[in-house]
Amino acid sequence: MTAASVATIIDAIAEAGEAVPSGSLTPVGGGCINEGAIVGEGARRYFVKLNGTGQRAMFEAEADGLKRLAAADAVRVPRPIAVGEGNGRAFLVLEFIEFGAASPAGFRRLGEALAQLHASHGERYGLPYDNTIGTTLQPNAEDTDWCRFFSRQRLAFQLRLAADNGIGKRVGETGERLLAALRERWAAYRPAPSLVHGDLWSGNVAFDRQGMPVLFDPACYYGDRETDLAMTELFGGFPRAFYDAYNAVAPVSADYPMHRDLYQLYHVLNHFNLFGGGYAGQVRRLLDRLLAELG
Ligand code: ADP
Repeated sequence: MTAASVATIIDAIAEAGEAVPSGSLTPVGGGCINEGAIVGEGARRYFVKLNGTGQRAMFEAEADGLKRLAAADAVRVPRPIAVGEGNGRAFLVLEFIEFGAASPAGFRRLGEALAQLHASHGERYGLPYDNTIGTTLQPNAEDTDWCRFFSRQRLAFQLRLAADNGIGKRVGETGERLLAALRERWAAYRPAPSLVHGDLWSGNVAFDRQGMPVLFDPACYYGDRETDLAMTELFGGFPRAFYDAYNAVAPVSADYPMHRDLYQLYHVLNHFNLFGGGYAGQVRRLLDRLLAELG
């Protein structure tokens, strides 16, 4: 990061009316998609995400998603401060949050907070703009029909990308059969359009120094709340306290086990499209299980 672009970032922070930091950017690891860095010290410390200028729209969408999550007043998220570009880099400046330890009580609070977030409803499924899941486009054209929204803009979209990426004919055919079976099974399924985080795996959850949960790196839209729960279970799951607390406020539907497979399929297809071959077997297993239940 050159001195010139650090100056652009500091200017953007000043323009947003925040306390102006001094100094250079210190890179920090941990991100899957972007470079992370810290600028400033103490109370004048900010978390900066950096990528190529082509990813500026991705940062605008992330900032908007964080504002939507904050407006629901259910769970702490980093406050977005500025989006901009300088010296061939796009950047997103966020409030810096110092993280503390995870605990069963923290996960219980997270379960309650997520149920509260999901009680925030939109009028339609989707969002007024598209965003990204990882770096993959996530189309959000608004729709009043959940089956149509999820089939077209989530499953069929990722299945097409996977075909382009060489996942093979069998997945294409079983995918088509699944979409047809879903039209029947979901003829009367109308979940409330909940505000969802959209990318809720353990890497996007932390706890602040007071033990309160913090969510970051969202891919928000209005959709079935069970999409978020399905994603929490994809890589090993969250602690029991989280699910108990969520279900005590907002029990999942009787069809949740099937919904979990379906909603995980979207993310596993996306992992195949982002990271390649190793995920093809998991895609096939989920498709086979879903067809056995629905077909
Ligand atoms: P990416 O979009 O590249 O996946 P993340 O948003 O997941 O990046 O952030 C990467 C890591 O940086 C997180 O795991 C977390 O440890 C840290 N981080 C993210 N946002 C903040 C923040 N606002 N304050 C402090 N640390 C943060």
